[in-house]
Amino acid sequence: MAIDSNFTYTEAYLACPECDLVHAVPSIREGEQGRCIRCGALLFVRHKDSLDRALAFAMTGLMFFILANMFPLLTFEMEGRSESNRLIDGAIAFWTAGYWELGIVVFIFSVVAPLAVLLVLITLLLPMRLGKAPPSPQLQVRILTHLKPWAMSEIFILGIIVAFVKLQDFADVSVGLSLFAFVLMVAATVMAYMTLDEGALWSRLKEIQA
Ligand SMILES: [Zn+2]
Repeated sequence: MAIDSNFTYTEAYLACPECDLVHAVPSIREGEQGRCIRCGALLFVRHKDSLDRALAFAMTGLMFFILANMFPLLTFEMEGRSESNRLIDGAIAFWTAGYWELGIVVFIFSVVAPLAVLLVLITLLLPMRLGKAPPSPQLQVRILTHLKPWAMSEIFILGIIVAFVKLQDFADVSVGLSLFAFVLMVAATVMAYMTLDEGALWSRLKEIQA
C-alpha cells in the first residue's frame, strides 16, 4: 500500500485499482474490509488489532535479535579444536581479510538494518499502545518504508554466508543457536511489516491527538 502521510481513511477518496471507480472512503472498523461497489475488487482492509499485533511481532523480533547476538552463529571444528563465530564476526572477518566494503555491507545487513527496523517499529507502536503520540510518526513510517527491502532480504545474506561456509570443506561446520534466532528475528520482522496496517495507524494517531 502506498504511503501518504496526509492521507486519512475517513475523508479520502479512493479509486478502484481494477475499474477506476472513485469511492468516498467510509470510516470502517477493525476487522472490516471495503470492496468496489461496481466490480467487487478489494479496496482496503482494516486488520483486526493490526497495531498491537505488529508491536508484538516487533518486540519478539527484538528479543530474537538480542539472542542472535549472544550465541555462536556457526561453529567450526578443525583438528580437534572448535571455533565459534558470532553474528558480528561475519562482518569483522570480511573487514580484516581486506574486503572492508563487503564487511560494511554485511554489518549493515546483519546488525544495523534489522535493529533499526525493530527499534523504529517499537518506538512508533509502543507509545501508541500507551495512548501517547510517537516522536515523529511521519518520519518513522518513511524510514520503515525505506528499510523494508533490507528487512526482507536479510535472509539472502544469511544464505550466502552459510553457503560460503559450507563450501569450505576443511572444517566441520555446525549451526549455532544464533542462526535459528536470526531466522526467527527475520520472520518476526516480516510478520510485523505484514500485520502493520497504515490506515489503522493514522486513524489511531488521529484519535490520540484529538
Ligand atoms: Zn472496481
